[in-house]
Amino acid sequence: CGIVGIVGDQPVSERLVDALKRLEYRGYDSAGVATINGGELHRRRAEGKLVNLETRLKEEPLAGTIGIAHTRWATHGAPTERNAHPHFTEGVAVVHNGIIENFAELKSELTAAGAEFQTETDTEVVAQLLASFRREGMGRREAMHAMLKRVSGAYALAVLFEDDPSTIMAARNGPPLAIGHGEGEMFLGSDAIALAPFTNEITYLIDGDWAVIGRTGVHIFDIDGSPVTRPRQVSMAAA
Ligand code: GLU
Repeated sequence: CGIVGIVGDQPVSERLVDALKRLEYRGYDSAGVATINGGELHRRRAEGKLVNLETRLKEEPLAGTIGIAHTRWATHGAPTERNAHPHFTEGVAVVHNGIIENFAELKSELTAAGAEFQTETDTEVVAQLLASFRREGMGRREAMHAMLKRVSGAYALAVLFEDDPSTIMAARNGPPLAIGHGEGEMFLGSDAIALAPFTNEITYLIDGDWAVIGRTGVHIFDIDGSPVTRPRQVSMAAA
């Protein structure tokens, strides 16, 4: 339902939760945040309101200067902590807005090939596909592109790969996704409102786009993998 991401030079977990709060008006049933810290993915998730996630983070803080976060409005799988995003599979973390329409077919294919699913969500096929392509030896971008060619449906996605602690990958087909340009930091949000405290310089992805976001900028590609340019605009969202 709501997505935020920060490729930062300062700790991100509190800022990610604050940005999620700006999306609370959309409604949600659970929430979660993932960062890379010390070369490893870590996450905290909680059912219910963001205050529950904040309590989890107080008990067990999450360090790291890169991270993604999500508020979930369950479409497939009960609104439990286990089904809350981010989903983790072998060094890949994924958050998703929307519905992967062909998830059942992909899930049986991946299960037949040995994948062990941990959740009841449609989203987990994205993480499992990425992990299986990496296992086959693909690079991160190649795996992202191959995954996007397999999934159909509506999605805004943000992905972290544990073996690259300086990049968030994102993709859009349907639900909106905005990239925010900061100074030495870059941001991602399903609504520019979430990013207003950080920056008002926004690049919107269009359907079929995917992006590789680093601390100093973004590279955007179309579904064929060709680089594309999207305008940078000044957002009117109030901080
Ligand atoms: N379909 C996904 C799920 O049920 C994402 C729902 C959303 O947009 O929050 O987990």
